[in-house]
Amino acid sequence: MINIQRKTIQRQIIFDVLRSLEHPTVSQINDVIQKEHPAISKSTIYRNLRQMEDEKLVCRIWLPNDTERYDNNTTPHYHLKCTSCGTIYDIEPDTIEQKTKNPTNTATISTISTIVAKAIKKRYNFAVTKKDLVFSGTCGEC
Ligand SMILES: [Zn+2]
Ligand SMILES: [Zn+2]
Repeated sequence: MINIQRKTIQRQIIFDVLRSLEHPTVSQINDVIQKEHPAISKSTIYRNLRQMEDEKLVCRIWLPNDTERYDNNTTPHYHLKCTSCGTIYDIEPDTIEQKTKNPTNTATISTISTIVAKAIKKRYNFAVTKKDLVFSGTCGEC
């Protein structure tokens, strides 16, 4: 019973740290945890992250020229990467320049990517199952 409780507490700590950071790498999560909870090993962190990923509480993301990162936003979305500070930001799926004319008919980044996937299927006979889109640049903080 005590062991189960300890596991639940460790898992909650790991999840809370993940959520407090912006798309952290495992090392970044580990660094924060080691400061306050040195008893939680890196392998425990890894194992818990994988479990939470399997349970779809978090997702793992891969970006070009970057280490794998964790994301607590599990709804499909794309990313912005600041090449100056390295921070990864979410692009909300409904992001689009607002059109005044027919706002209900406005394409969002999400519908645009679906249209592109359909075109790819038609032109290359390639079935897109996952769409990762990253825009690199400089963030407002830099
Ligand atoms: Zn930046
Ligand atoms: Zn994200």
